[in-house]
Amino acid sequence: MIKLKNIVKTYDTPNGSVHALKDINLEIKRGEIYGIIGLSGAGKSTLVRCINMLERPTSGSVIVNGKDLTTMTESQLREARKDIGMIFQHFNLLSTSTVYDNIAFPLKLAGKSKEEIKAKVEPLLKLVGLENKAHQYPSQLSGGQKQRVGIARALANDTKVLLCDEATSALDPQTTKAILELIRDINKNLQLTVVVITHEMQVIKDLCDKVAVLDHGVIAENGTVLEIFTNP
Ligand code: ADP
Ligand code: ADP
Repeated sequence: MIKLKNIVKTYDTPNGSVHALKDINLEIKRGEIYGIIGLSGAGKSTLVRCINMLERPTSGSVIVNGKDLTTMTESQLREARKDIGMIFQHFNLLSTSTVYDNIAFPLKLAGKSKEEIKAKVEPLLKLVGLENKAHQYPSQLSGGQKQRVGIARALANDTKVLLCDEATSALDPQTTKAILELIRDINKNLQLTVVVITHEMQVIKDLCDKVAVLDHGVIAENGTVLEIFTNP
């Protein structure tokens, strides 16, 4: 589902080059939940942002759903990005829009009609358990509810890949558990491929099938959660 081939990402800064990713190779299969762990600055965020080309790799290819995103024109890329949703630590919701309109936002961008939007948003509200919050604003929601909106918005375009950047780091343990359960349910029911950046070991153990350990821009280890965590 996701193939990263020889990904290099170098940031040029006034203070010189930062080698954030050095020759990353990784394959994530359809329906897998893949965790990315590593110390701060290891390159986790850069790696995940290369999957939807929020960051353009300096070299290498990013293949999602059989398509190489690195060779696409901007308009092809806009289309291909519909396959990929993302959720964030601080939710990144539109504060002046209702829950309904936050979820509708990517559909509006995609030029869908009001009827098409309604037909998508209503089941998504149900899926994330927010049917009765459609008209509320993000400031009226708890953290867990905000992340539910983020998840629904990420799924709006019949998403095939969900990228999660520290998506539960701002939530208490009980809310984290509920959000992880929701992600797991969606993963099962929709055959969604999920990539999770986290510094929380519990998230890896409760949620992920496989894990890659990033260290200074290289994958130090990867395998099943069992393999990685039973190594001496
Ligand atoms: P992590 O998510 O593991 O904390 P990042 O991917 O954010 O790691 O960062 C990897 C390295 O790249 C760090 O040294 C960071 O300072 C650097 N970096 C990240 N984004 C930028 C940027 N936009 N410009 C310059 N350097 C960056
Ligand atoms: P119209 O402007 O023709 O009444 P809609 O009722 O479809 O069109 O949408 C207008 C606005 O009403 C939307 O932008 C949305 O904020 C809200 N809305 C529509 N359907 C729902 C719904 N099921 N739940 C919550 N809000 C909705």
